[in-house]
Amino acid sequence: MKTVKDYFGSLVFDDRVMKEMLSADVYAKLKKTMDEGSELDISVANAVADAMKEWAISKGATHFTHWFQPLTGITAEKHDSFIAPNLHGGVIMEFSGKELIKGEPDASSFPSGGLRATFEARGYTAWDPTSYAFIKGKTLCIPTAFCSYEGHALDKKTPLLRSMEALNRQALRILRLFGNTSAKHVRACVGPEQEYFLVTKEMYDKRPDLRFTGRTLFGARPPKSQEMDDHYFGAIKPRVAAFMEELNEELWKVGILAKTEHNEVAPAQHEIAPIYTTANIATDHNQLTMEIMQKVALKHGLVCLLHEKPFAGVNGSGKHNNWSIATDSGQNLLSPSDTPYENAQFLLFLCAVIKAVDDYQDLLRISVATAGNDHRLGANEAPPAVVSIFLGDELTAILDAIESGTPYNGTSKIEMKLGVDFLPKFHRDTTDRNRTSPFAFTGNKFEFRMLGSSNSIACANIMLNSAVAESLCQFADRLESAGNFEAELNSLIKDTIKAHKRIIFNGNGYDESWIKEATEKRGLSNYRTTPDCMPHLLDKKNVDMLIKHGVYSLAELKSRCEIMLENYCKTVIIEANTMVDMAKTQIAPAVELFTADIARGAAAKKALDASLECSYEKNVVIKLSALLDRIAAKTDELSSALVSVGKAEDIETKAYRIRDEILPLMGELRLACDEAETLTAKSYWPFPTYADLLFGVK
Ligand code: ADP
Ligand code: MG
Repeated sequence: MKTVKDYFGSLVFDDRVMKEMLSADVYAKLKKTMDEGSELDISVANAVADAMKEWAISKGATHFTHWFQPLTGITAEKHDSFIAPNLHGGVIMEFSGKELIKGEPDASSFPSGGLRATFEARGYTAWDPTSYAFIKGKTLCIPTAFCSYEGHALDKKTPLLRSMEALNRQALRILRLFGNTSAKHVRACVGPEQEYFLVTKEMYDKRPDLRFTGRTLFGARPPKSQEMDDHYFGAIKPRVAAFMEELNEELWKVGILAKTEHNEVAPAQHEIAPIYTTANIATDHNQLTMEIMQKVALKHGLVCLLHEKPFAGVNGSGKHNNWSIATDSGQNLLSPSDTPYENAQFLLFLCAVIKAVDDYQDLLRISVATAGNDHRLGANEAPPAVVSIFLGDELTAILDAIESGTPYNGTSKIEMKLGVDFLPKFHRDTTDRNRTSPFAFTGNKFEFRMLGSSNSIACANIMLNSAVAESLCQFADRLESAGNFEAELNSLIKDTIKAHKRIIFNGNGYDESWIKEATEKRGLSNYRTTPDCMPHLLDKKNVDMLIKHGVYSLAELKSRCEIMLENYCKTVIIEANTMVDMAKTQIAPAVELFTADIARGAAAKKALDASLECSYEKNVVIKLSALLDRIAAKTDELSSALVSVGKAEDIETKAYRIRDEILPLMGELRLACDEAETLTAKSYWPFPTYADLLFGVK
């Protein structure tokens, strides 16, 4: 029998394959490019391309594609076959270094936010040798960056790689100050936990809202949902287990280290998490995971819903971005250690993150902003839209002691030099788990929990890496010019805690009183919706920082702001149109049919015996008729509001109007329809209900 070891990574052109198929010289040169970003010459590229092609063909591949991540948030690919004609009317299989390094997809229909006029169709893709090529179906996929001819990044990978480089540069400066001369590079490491729902394909097909928008736009609450907590970590149903088993196999084949899987809080909700890896590979892998999840689900007659809020009144789906920074020798810089000196270094990196999250809380909020995620953040669901950090009681007590210059009397009871002589290891015990915090320290990493389940994790990590790079840069500037390193370090840590402790909050982030305290007393920002936060991307402090570290140009930032707002508008408009359509052509006719049948039944009964009251029928007919009128009125209102909003002169105004006019009307229309659902016989209802969807997978 084949074991996991036999097929893990079998479809990846990874280190094992490279070592085997490349000459020692070519392998060494490629490794250097991968580790240090040195330029690759064409002869090496040719040799790599040739080996890649031979390997891919041996695995049954016939095509290759430059696989990239345009700003739509999903991945794109354009397939070319390896074949080239030979002189004798046959074909040979060809793939050159030039084709490996650079591609020219027709880029005109990808969003560019004004970066590239549509007539100027050409953009180019450039190989990212730090992420392994892999095979999908019959295609060799080469991870690439996507740029315009002027060099503007049109994708999510390019700024991510730039932000990793910025973090690397600044972190190395700090390490050198602590006497570390051996570290060659520092990388951000990420392990994203991915939540999702599974529903049956049969039911999904009957719901235009799920098909067109990924979420239910109508649906009365089922009698039972998540209140019993009996789904969470419960036994996995056989059909779901079969799906998970095949999913793991498919992920393992492409080298994704899928590790844990379990049921989540809501019925039909599940989670999958891989073992962490460098931020850019984790991003590629998460994109690939989402794609493979959907494909495998279909094979099992299921549909995998990645929307942030597929069901109202039931927990939404997020993504937990576990983030840390580590050296090439594997030292985790966010891990407390047993020696005082390393602990001082740990505290400095910890302070860098605290400062970064406080200074750039708006950028972190922006990095997760979508119409879908607005239903989680800022709605009645954890985490809230206010960014804060959970450190746990112990670490908070240590920071308090450092700030006030008093000895720390925690578990160790040891007088501190440099703020601290000994830091206990932080165990992630259950008391430390705070599921409501948007940004939690969990022992040796931070868990950023605001991401939506369908988001690319690129944006969150770009902002996180850049903001922390900026903190480290300011720290390094100060420490490098200090006369007495230890004294300066001590006061730097103290100053930072003092200036940024407002961002630390260990309580319940879900509580209304916290939101009040956060915004009124602590001055933290609370951007509840995408139109609220998105324009702040272009605030001077944000633009200055991102340009300073070479992560984005001003033009690139402007384009992102525009695209994000455009996406927001398009998403809600499609939802509203779908609602109008479903209300008019499915819900209203069904309610009308049922009402008329009931009325006819009552009339027939009365004809038999005029003294019958028929109070049930009367009641239902009156209530449903009133609801029908309301449904019709709200549908009309929504339709005209859509026409009017469509005329908004600029994208920002349009986004605000959609939030303030369209979304509330959608809520009102839904309310009327959902109420009608509770009064209408199930056999008349035109599509599967919440109870069907949430409990339909056996
Ligand atoms: P949880 O209790 O939150 O489920 P896990 O230990 O299962 O915690 O880890 C969740 C995710 O965090 C996994 O993807 C894991 O690989 C990742 N992770 C663990 N350690 C680190 C680290 N040092 N840096 C980044 N991610 C990490
Ligand atoms: Mg977690």
